[in-house]
Amino acid sequence: MESLRRWFLLYPEGMEGTPPVVTGRFAPSPTGAMHLGNARTALLAWLHSRAAGGRHLLRFEDLDTGRVRPWAYDVTRRDLEWLGLDWDEEHLQSERLELYAHALSRLDTYPCTCTRREVTEAIAASAGAPHGDEPVYPGTCRDRPAHLDRSAARRWRVPAVTVCAHDTLRGWTLCQVLPAEVGDIVLRRNDGVYAYHLAVVVDDAAMGVTDVIRGEDLWPATPRQVALQDALGLPPVRYGHVPLLHDVAGQRLAKRGGAPSVREWREGGTSAGTVLALLARSLGWDVPDDVSAAELLPAWQAWSLHELDLDRPQT
Ligand code: GLU
Repeated sequence: MESLRRWFLLYPEGMEGTPPVVTGRFAPSPTGAMHLGNARTALLAWLHSRAAGGRHLLRFEDLDTGRVRPWAYDVTRRDLEWLGLDWDEEHLQSERLELYAHALSRLDTYPCTCTRREVTEAIAASAGAPHGDEPVYPGTCRDRPAHLDRSAARRWRVPAVTVCAHDTLRGWTLCQVLPAEVGDIVLRRNDGVYAYHLAVVVDDAAMGVTDVIRGEDLWPATPRQVALQDALGLPPVRYGHVPLLHDVAGQRLAKRGGAPSVREWREGGTSAGTVLALLARSLGWDVPDDVSAAELLPAWQAWSLHELDLDRPQT
């Protein structure tokens, strides 16, 4: 009964007996080898897609070419295969630049040649304190001609509205006033690199993604992605933000922090089933010492049901 209830909460447009089509994705940045935290997010995204009988995509978010490590593509593919997390399609953002250029041309943007220092000084001089951890761009270049001798970034002139994002998995809602809490974000950097926020919404729509399961570090950035979807007339997606994995010292695992990589486990002779059991147990799931990804489907269904606050109205 509960699982039926859950089904209709997550897939409200579904008709009895005809499961709606779900498309999910895992979107790693090939900037290094996946650590266990990345693998856990990959596992949860896969479980969500497959539990719904849906398609699952692998999308390499490789726009920031300076940070990309060419070997990381193959290592990631092999790690995922080893864990049994298969995918139906693979995409590389670096091959999709025309799409982002087209989307950018449809938005109200302006060139910005302010240096980082000028922006920081303007923030310090402005009366409003920055909201949260991230300083909000105070609009320094909004009505100022760009320096022709400097390469320009393109900033989005955000509409003066409040945008809310909803997380179906956790029952969360987050509303942000765009000008005050987000500001005119850069959609293309001055070195020509398109911003993740633009690429992610363009790609999710173009690839027919319906469900985004990803790390909860991205939750504060979700309203701006919803705002971009709205501005571009793209369909909304369902979000589910999953907890990040922390080490014993309480620090979030990071590629740069030297967290042990899945590759090391794989090449060191540990079985994939052991690693999957470790990941599942880190979520509090009661599983045997050695499991396959498919065997974790019921545990995911039970967990995602439990994580939802069923007493709260779902939006
Ligand atoms: N590329 C992002 C990351 O590796 C994930 C983006 C997303 O899932 O929307 O954290």
